[in-house]
Amino acid sequence: MIIHLDMDAFFASVELRERPELAGLPVVVGGSASGRGVVAAASYEARRYGVVSAMPVASAIRLCPDLVCLPVNMTLYVSVSKQIHEIFYRYTPEIEPLSLDEAFLDVSASEKLFGPAAEIAKQIKSDIKNECQLIVSAGVAPNKFVAKIASDIDKPDGFVVIEPGTVQDFLDPLPIKRIWGVGKKTEQLLQQAGMETIYDVRNKNPDWLIQRFGKLGDHIYRLANGQDKRAVISDAKAKSISAETTFASDVQDKDILLAMLSQLSEQVAVRLRDKDVKGKTVSIKIRFHDFKTITRSKTLSEITFNTTFIWNTVKELFLQVLKTGVRPIRLVGVSVSGFSAKENVQGDLFEQDVKQDKLDVLSDEINQRFGKSRIHRGRKLTK
Ligand SMILES: [Mg+2]
Repeated sequence: MIIHLDMDAFFASVELRERPELAGLPVVVGGSASGRGVVAAASYEARRYGVVSAMPVASAIRLCPDLVCLPVNMTLYVSVSKQIHEIFYRYTPEIEPLSLDEAFLDVSASEKLFGPAAEIAKQIKSDIKNECQLIVSAGVAPNKFVAKIASDIDKPDGFVVIEPGTVQDFLDPLPIKRIWGVGKKTEQLLQQAGMETIYDVRNKNPDWLIQRFGKLGDHIYRLANGQDKRAVISDAKAKSISAETTFASDVQDKDILLAMLSQLSEQVAVRLRDKDVKGKTVSIKIRFHDFKTITRSKTLSEITFNTTFIWNTVKELFLQVLKTGVRPIRLVGVSVSGFSAKENVQGDLFEQDVKQDKLDVLSDEINQRFGKSRIHRGRKLTK
């Protein structure tokens, strides 16, 4: 089983934890309003005013004049993210981080040790609440696609478990836009053909979908049938570190796009430094309004984890893309890859050992759970 975990309004929640005097107020984390900054995260109170992430801070203040705007403190968020990942590692080494506050966990091999996936998810939620004073939403399901929808459907503080036999009952009534890869345009085309829900898609002839949408049609049909074979790619195997943002509505303003790319560059750089990994290739990913997605990369003369080097390269790549014409953009992403040979070799040669070590640690914890050290580990492992 797969668990998808996603922190609720992560940057804003961390700031609110650090500043309890702001509890209950509409808070955003982001760049300055005068400097054309964008919202990196909005508290649930701020969202009530229509404030969403990736919106210019100036527009957010127009919507909510009493908005509390805090600067981005990436180092703090990375340290909290690390703490959260350490909690994940108690239960499985098979962790695929999607961003600082979001990850897939494959707990198939851990269920023998820790009980059913739903119990593990519940335990992780309570560990994070007790130890980090933060709330995470969890989705538990047989695959990534369903787990991700499950974690999202009951936010904040979501906890949704979809057992293998109930996947179709869960998916069927959902709108087609819940399917990965179905953007505005595909949604419209599917609607024109009479489809509104996932049920409608799965009852369509797959040949029609493939004829109409090519590969995407096949992909949509499989997901609608709850089939998603993608494995959880654990951090140890990762060959890049990346961060990306999908805008709530398409963005064409160059300054907003640059502000968001700058935040993402910083996030990637801080994570590289945190892991003590340097990369040589900087890439950007741009998804346009019509879902066309491009990546552009540049290989530097030497490996780096320096924020300025990464950001300058990202900016250069992005400005080159803009030269081909400015179109509304739906998603931007930054990644650094090409880690030094030493790190790659270690990763490949010792990966099995590392995994074994982590499983050993899990087994030790189980022994302790039922053994004499029970008191020592009491808070975490009893109930
Ligand atoms: Mg999140």
